[in-house]
Amino acid sequence: MHELAITESVIKVAVGAAAGRRIHAIHLAIGVLSSIVDDSVQFYFDILSRDSLAAGATLHFRRIPASAQCQTCGHQCSIEPPLPPACPACASVALRISGGMEFHVESIDVEDDVGS
Ligand SMILES: [Zn+2]
Repeated sequence: MHELAITESVIKVAVGAAAGRRIHAIHLAIGVLSSIVDDSVQFYFDILSRDSLAAGATLHFRRIPASAQCQTCGHQCSIEPPLPPACPACASVALRISGGMEFHVESIDVEDDVGS
């Protein structure tokens, strides 16, 4: 249940960045290998944000792909789970996986300073 701690930090970051303004939406970037479940984040968000400026904000999730580079032939490709067991080009198992583990708040939408 690491989504709980993650969601807490998302709200903290968003509320801090909003500087007192009400938050309409939060855009999150999640690596495909990070094993974070969107629904769980949304679930905790609804509970934890209740008494904050982020209450009722919409969460948007963007998946960031991971990439694998073969250490044998240099073949590089973008991957999504399940991870390939071997290089699709030469069948070597010496794959280096990078990216796909990130999780961060990309941007937030807040109410306008001047009412519109
Ligand atoms: Zn290869």
